Formats: sequence, structure tokens, C-alpha cells
Amino acid sequence: MTQELPTTDSDLFNKVLDALRTKVSDFNFKNWFQHTSWHLEEPGRVLIKVPTKFIRDWLADHFLELIKFELFRVSEREYDVLFKVEKNVNRTLELFPQGAAPALPTTETPKVEDYSPVKAVNQFIRSQESRTTQRLATITQTVFNPKYTFANFVVGNGNQLVHAACKAVAAQPAKSYNPLFIYGGVGLGKTHLLNAVGIDVQKNYPHLRVLFVTGEKFTNEVIDAIRYDKTFELRRKYRESCDILLIDDIQFIAGKERTMEEFFHTFNALYEVRKQIILTSDRMPKDMAKLEERLKSRFGWGLLADIQAPDYETRMAILHKKAEEDGFDLAGDVCEFIASNVTANIRELEGALVRVYAFASLAGLQVTLDLTREVLKSVVGNVKPALSVEGIQNKVADYFQLRTSDLKSKRRHRALAYPRQIAMYLCKIHLPASFPEIGHKFGGKDHTTVMHAVQKIKKCLESDASLKTQIAELEKGLDFPRGHANAC
Ligand code: ADP
Ligand code: MG
Repeated sequence: MTQELPTTDSDLFNKVLDALRTKVSDFNFKNWFQHTSWHLEEPGRVLIKVPTKFIRDWLADHFLELIKFELFRVSEREYDVLFKVEKNVNRTLELFPQGAAPALPTTETPKVEDYSPVKAVNQFIRSQESRTTQRLATITQTVFNPKYTFANFVVGNGNQLVHAACKAVAAQPAKSYNPLFIYGGVGLGKTHLLNAVGIDVQKNYPHLRVLFVTGEKFTNEVIDAIRYDKTFELRRKYRESCDILLIDDIQFIAGKERTMEEFFHTFNALYEVRKQIILTSDRMPKDMAKLEERLKSRFGWGLLADIQAPDYETRMAILHKKAEEDGFDLAGDVCEFIASNVTANIRELEGALVRVYAFASLAGLQVTLDLTREVLKSVVGNVKPALSVEGIQNKVADYFQLRTSDLKSKRRHRALAYPRQIAMYLCKIHLPASFPEIGHKFGGKDHTTVMHAVQKIKKCLESDASLKTQIAELEKGLDFPRGHANAC
């Protein structure tokens, strides 16, 4: 290499930043590198100070390899890179193109006496190789997402049953529910739970071979096996070399004949020798139009467990948990705003939280309710005036051709009690209101009456298709800020 080696720390860092500037977009450069301060902590170790945990994690997840690579390319030596959060980071670097920035005085000069370019290049190549070998090694064993554990899963009304079933299966595979079939809408935690089971089983039963694939991957494997005449290998993998089979989004195989056929025999082979099978799907087996009847019936042999949208309290708890995990300081009103407006699923809930904090962090602002409203405007739409108990009562009364006062009355005739229970259920699911508050607004009913109503409607929703339709129609008419909690 014929390039001029940097003579000072700041020279090195400026050169690296110049190089980074050409490799990442302006937006990324400004957002992630602008507020950093670089130091040579000791020879071979660079410390990058950043103002927030969020920026630290982002840099570590997305740019660490690139930073290390550029340090190596510019200096021809390898550096470890560490990040440190320091609230008021004073930028030590001028972020101008090389040459335009005045060189900062420094007392630390990179130690280059024992530096050998050949050694450094070899080291670099070796580190790349070991990374590749590691990657290949992991292909043959199931790798779970370490973030998706039981400990990180917030248990609430909508997912209690599924959570308990998953825990039971992870504790004693093939002893309790086999197969365990989990169904529910997107972003409600199915993949998270499947991962959590896999992680626990690997920990508790290291000798068991756990296979975790998506319905799509399974389908592709079947296609490849047919194309390359490898069906024997495929069968050995799934039927003989597997003790626990986890398939995420099994609905994907519906309508794909050879895949369904292959899966049918895989299922039978595993089931016969009492191997655990867990499947997830976005709908119930009976609602999977193109799924063979024989598979539908097998899916119901064990436990069919549905996962429902989280209620307000669970949404609040999830937000607090995520904030804690990511080191965000989450104010009560901000949390309430997000929990009230982002109701469709947990993925969107998380997305909203991250968006607010990313924005605040990039703009160097405090997270306040006003800022949250502004940032989430495009996500939740122009936030409509908050939905109220009265709004829900009026809508339900209209729908059932009753008067609102009927819903608040003490009369227990079924023609009144049923709509009243539906209205209470909708209030609980969609409003940040407690059981006593709702009871109070329904003519001073006791909180246990509201609890009973909500439980009852939830239970009925599991089997009563016409109730599901009614609730869906009512929710549509309620004009939620965006989407609605699909509690069916
Ligand atoms: P699905 O597979 O049902 O579409 P995921 O499992 O991918 O949903 O969940 C979407 C996101 O929401 C993930 O980041 C997951 O960690 C998170 N999540 C879902 N349910 C919970 C929960 N009960 N507690 C904490 N995080 C959750
Ligand atoms: Mg999923």
C-alpha cells in the first residue's frame, strides 16, 4: 500500500470519517456519526463516545464492521472499537472533508514500532475467515433470536393461554400438547414464542435436536429436494434427525400440493414416535381454505391456542418493558399516548416507540407528548379526538337499535345485557379505562360486572362467528385513530 499513514490520532479519525462519509448516505452520516467523539484509549483500541444508548446500539449493530474496516484500511493496523455513552459528548473532531479541518493537537501517537503490514493483513484475512467459518457452522444448527425469550415476553390477557402452553411444552416436550398449534394476527408474538420455546429446549435438553423453519423455507426445501433429487435427505432431516419440529407460518404451505404431502408424512412420522411439533399460523386450520382436510384434522389433535391483540394494560406493560430493555426513559403521558393510539399489534407498538426515540435522539430533543404526537402523526394518522366510553355506548346502542340509557340501566334482559356486555368489552379493549371507571359510566355498575362481561365476550369470541362479525362491524364504525385492536 502506498498511502500516507496518519500521523496523529485526529488525523487517523478524520481520515476514517472522511472515508465513512463516502460510504454511507449523507443522512446516515449526519444521524449516526455527527455527535460522536473519537479517542485512542490505548494502542489498538478506539473509544467512540456517543450521546445516547440508541446511537451506540445502532452504530454497533450497523456500522461496527465498516468502522473497523476503514480504521484498518487507513492505518494498516487493526483496532478494537468500543462505544461509550456520555450524555454531553463534546465532539473532538471537525467533520469537514479531509484537509479542511485543522489538525487537533494530540499527545498520543499510534504506536507503530512493532507494526508489520504483512502480519496485519494476515490477521485481517484470518479474522474474516473465522467469521465465515462461524457463519457456515451455524447453518447446520438452529439459531434462535436471543432477544425472543420468555423473559422478554409480556404476558397479558390476549396471550396468557398461548404463553402457558408454550412454557409447558418447553418444560416437557411432547408430554402435554402435541401438536401445539398457535394462531393469531400478525405482530402478536407468535414467532417470539416459538423462539422462546426453542431457546428453552436447547438450554434444558441440549441433547434434543430442534428444527425451526418457516413454512416458506420448508416449501423451498421441498422444491429443491424434488429438483435435485434429494428427497431422501429431506426426509432424513425432518423425520429422523429431528426431535422437536417448530414451523412458523405454516399457512404458507396451504395449496402447495407436494409440500403438504411431504409435511403430512413428516407429521405422521414425528407424531408416531412422540416427537413434539409446534406450528404457528395467521389463521385457524379450519379457515385455511386450501389446506387438505387430513392436515386440518391433525392440527387439531393437540391444542389449538389463539393469540389475541393485547389490551390497553398489556400494551402499556409492553412499552415499559421495551423502554427498559433499550434504556429509554419513558414518561407516563407518552406511554399512554402510544398505547392508546397504536392498538393493532405489538410490532407496530414497538415500531412507534423506536420511531419516537430515534427521532428525538437524532434531533437532540427531549421526548415529550407533543413531540410524540408530531412524530407519530404519519403512523397513527391525524389523531382523531379520543374515542370515549360515550362514543362506544352510542355506537353500540345504534347498532342494536337501543337507547344509550338501556345500556346504562340495571335491566338484565338478554336483549339488553348482551349489547351492554359488548359495549363494555369494546371500552376495555380500546380505551385506557379501568374496570371501575367503565362500570361507573355504565350507570354505576360494579367493576366485577365489567370484568365478567369482558371475559364472557372474549370467551364467546373463540367460537362464535356471528359475534366476531358483529364486533368487527362495530369496530369498523368506531373510527379508531388507526386500525383497531383485532380482539377476535
Ligand atoms: P408474529 O410472529 O405474531 O407476527 P412476532 O413474534 O414477530 O409476531 O412479534 C412482533 C414483535 O412484537 C417482536 O419484536 C416481538 O418481540 C414483540 N412482541 C410480541 N408479543 C410480545 C409480548 N407479549 N411481549 C413483548 N414483546 C412482544
Ligand atoms: Mg411471525
